[in-house]
Amino acid sequence: MRMILMGPPGAGKGTQAKVVAEHFGIPAISTGDIFRANVSRGTPLGKKAQEYMDAGEYVPDEVTNLMVRARIDEPDAEPGFLLDGYPRTQAQVADLDDMLAAEGASLDAVLELTVDTDEVVQRLLKRAEIDGRADDTEDVIRHRMKVYDEETAPLAAVYRDRGLLHQVDGMGEMDEVSDRLTAVLATLQS
Ligand code: ADP
Repeated sequence: MRMILMGPPGAGKGTQAKVVAEHFGIPAISTGDIFRANVSRGTPLGKKAQEYMDAGEYVPDEVTNLMVRARIDEPDAEPGFLLDGYPRTQAQVADLDDMLAAEGASLDAVLELTVDTDEVVQRLLKRAEIDGRADDTEDVIRHRMKVYDEETAPLAAVYRDRGLLHQVDGMGEMDEVSDRLTAVLATLQS
């Protein structure tokens, strides 16, 4: 299974990615988590990414694409993977297509969590109080939403045209959302 999980900031992608990944026994690969780990370790990649992340901008495609290439080449991703937060731009879609084609592989499904924007801004502000992410201030959150709407939301149509898109209502309790996702996953397996 090679899958993508899409959804705006605050849609609960991280939590739901774990549910989906466990369901299929594949790794959940979060580009945001990998960037944050590199920022906290002070690696060259982290140094490149930090200023973009702090401003709520996307890290440049070349940097992100190389990182994802390396990650999906790891042995644990051989049987499949769930990408959380990638691709987010047209160029990333194209690069992922190349990566998969080079392996003779293809995508099986794209899951999109749909949410109410005002409600997720509130969710993110609450999260900011708990784990204090540097990019969870109100201005930066609103900017991340805008970038998502402009650059990433349109990608759903690309995958819809390929017959891969499954939209799932991301509002409500985490467990409810997981149940909805699991129902969709059951249809994929059969
Ligand atoms: P969220 O979806 O809540 O904004 P993520 O953890 O997925 O959070 O991403 C945090 C930040 O990491 C993004 O705002 C961006 O700066 C960077 N990032 C993550 N994934 C990508 C990507 N595919 N392309 C470019 N930048 C990315």
